[in-house]
Amino acid sequence: MAETVDPARIARVALDVPRPLFFDYLAVASEALTSADLGLRVLVPFGQHRKVGILVDLPATSELPLAQLKPLLAVFRDVRPLPGDWFRLTRFCASYYQVAPGRVMLSVLPAGLRSPQIARTISPRRARRPVLCAPDTQVELTGEQAAAILEVSGSGAGFHAYLLHGVTGSGKTEVYLRLIERVLETGRQTLLLVPEINLTPQLESRVAARFPDGGLVCLHSGLGEAERTRNWCAALSGQARIVLGTRLAVFTPLPELGLIIVDEEHDTSFKQQDGVRYSARDLAVYRARDGNLPIVLGSATPSLESWANATASEGHGRYRLLSLHQRANARASLPRVRVVDTRQDKPRNGLSSALLGAIEQRLAHSEQSLIFLNRRGYAPVLLCAPCGWTSRCHRCAANLVLHVVDRRLRCHHCGYVTAVPKSCPDCGNQDISAFGRGTQRIEATLRESFPEARILRVDRDSASTRRQWAALLETIHRGGADILVGTQMLAKGHDFPKLTLVGAIAPDAALFAADWRGPERLFAQLMQVAGRAGRADLPGEVLLQTQFPDHPLYAAVARHDYAGFAAAELAERRRAGFPPYVHQAMLRAEAVGMADALAFLATARALALADDDDRVTLYDPVPMRLSRRANRERAQLLLDSPSRPALQRFLPLWLRRLDALKVPATLRWHVEVDPLEV
Ligand code: ADP
Ligand code: ZN
Ligand code: ZN
Repeated sequence: MAETVDPARIARVALDVPRPLFFDYLAVASEALTSADLGLRVLVPFGQHRKVGILVDLPATSELPLAQLKPLLAVFRDVRPLPGDWFRLTRFCASYYQVAPGRVMLSVLPAGLRSPQIARTISPRRARRPVLCAPDTQVELTGEQAAAILEVSGSGAGFHAYLLHGVTGSGKTEVYLRLIERVLETGRQTLLLVPEINLTPQLESRVAARFPDGGLVCLHSGLGEAERTRNWCAALSGQARIVLGTRLAVFTPLPELGLIIVDEEHDTSFKQQDGVRYSARDLAVYRARDGNLPIVLGSATPSLESWANATASEGHGRYRLLSLHQRANARASLPRVRVVDTRQDKPRNGLSSALLGAIEQRLAHSEQSLIFLNRRGYAPVLLCAPCGWTSRCHRCAANLVLHVVDRRLRCHHCGYVTAVPKSCPDCGNQDISAFGRGTQRIEATLRESFPEARILRVDRDSASTRRQWAALLETIHRGGADILVGTQMLAKGHDFPKLTLVGAIAPDAALFAADWRGPERLFAQLMQVAGRAGRADLPGEVLLQTQFPDHPLYAAVARHDYAGFAAAELAERRRAGFPPYVHQAMLRAEAVGMADALAFLATARALALADDDDRVTLYDPVPMRLSRRANRERAQLLLDSPSRPALQRFLPLWLRRLDALKVPATLRWHVEVDPLEV
């Protein structure tokens, strides 16, 4: 029989452990706990260690005899308790993505609050002041912007999800700023989520300039630990009025939250790819519904999932669609898109004569050109033609990429680096050659073709730190570059006033990618990068080099026709049975040997019993496309179902059976719900 005690004696605590359990401790007599303390951090003994946990309950009884419960070591009162909606969000995340709730709760806290060092005092920020808008920066809204704002602010209180679809340069940011302003006026907080802060420093500075008196804090991995903790605490205490952050910021406790905005909502970096594998965009929608508040998802190229939700025929109008068809600056028109048939105009060293001619024209007019290629390095592989040797990573099923800047071969999957061999390691041939093209090689070609031009390469190698990236942007903005060569880093959210030409030199590779999301990503990238051209007074032009000039995807890009592309692609997905028409989960296994990984998945598949929901389909285990990474063999098993609830009911039961399996010590497995990479 369970002993009944003073209810405040037993403290139930969430800890960062893989098991879906909470743990009971004894509250110490000197520190009486009440329900007002739920959500405080506590320090507890755990095995040989001390751990920080979160107080989640004060139950009347424990399943363990009281004598076995260990006492709490400390209760931290430096930060106010985590609020109820934060618990609902983290618990929803845990159950939807099949992770232990304690793991979610602890892993989303800033590191400064997770460490078992006795609580540091969080230095308080300035007292809260009303946040006002800088009046002189206001522009006159376009009709479309005004209509979008009216629709959101006129819908009254309560949950509404909006998809703000606006072509590049249509002034989505201005819409966000006006909506934020209204929310601030009503005394509530805003959460503004962005994909990668390094790529969108302009947004940060625009928000800061509009709301200059300190209501804005940022939360992203570029911040130091102390600053991140401080900003997080400012959000929880209500001092911060606007939180601008990357995916993890979706978990920021905001007691007076009144609006959520997700900018570039299609961006895959909203999906966490390891640890707790969640989609910040989807959690943001849950959070808005739970908090009964509006959410705005913005993009020039929405994810097809969101688009389906927003189109009446598909999503039954779950989201309301707000459209900005025109560029905000009346003088800026959308760029003209031209397809260059590379079967006729054969590129030399990657560049067609049409593109070379167009660059030359820009140079003559002192305008900027951008050459877009989504492959960094000099060449994707080194090749010995006589014997067929290629530069392979010995740890991964992948090629080593040639980087000439530092004369190295690099694996882009595991980070392995080695010197470039002087001769073929297999046959001794001295004449090994670079095969294919990356940004470094295109840069070199451009330097030969245009020796007078100032050429700047922008990719993860040249802009690996926030500071390098800021310096490159600064150079571009002050007109210090004539030709930019870059990856999709350059595609996002930048206004380059003198940029009038964009050349996409090898888009075809993504056209026939094995991943069925390839076309969606390619379309988005081309639209985004094309959107950089002609943003101010100068008309822009885009050249697409392709062997498939009649491909419907390029035709849609040329018409700036997102809706047409989306309708065709969704029809294809419906026909083929892909999301959003089915719901997927992926079980992945990694082991030293492929046989072990596949055998585990086969066993897992067999553990789905015949009486399980027959609306859930389990496919055959297969090696992953990158079948080996960092010496680990990788395999996966896809599950899908036309019914999300059916899949959600199936997964926890099935995973419990898998948890009970004995597996080889080196085998690791995890499940991902709504996987992006399949
Ligand atoms: P998006 O985020 O949709 O790509 P931005 O918000 O960056 O577009 O706006 C593009 C440009 O148009 C920016 O330079 C911005 O200052 C300007 N802009 C936005 N709204 C207006 C407006 N109503 N009138 C004039 N210019 C505007
Ligand atoms: Zn590797
Ligand atoms: Zn050889």
